[in-house]
Amino acid sequence: MAKGKKSKKDLKKQVYKYYKIEGGKIVRLRKFCPICGPGYFLAEHKDRLSCGRCGYTVKK
Ligand SMILES: [Zn+2]
Repeated sequence: MAKGKKSKKDLKKQVYKYYKIEGGKIVRLRKFCPICGPGYFLAEHKDRLSCGRCGYTVKK
């Protein structure tokens, strides 16, 4: 359901939140899911981080 609702533009915007350029280096602001691997960021919540793909959750 709602597949393709997000435009490419929106996705690009989202990715930007996850990276920061600092002194010419790319700094990752988010952790990757240890189960799904690199490319799957953990979503930030108030007191935990969770993976939207596999459901992995870690407390802050
Ligand atoms: Zn995961």
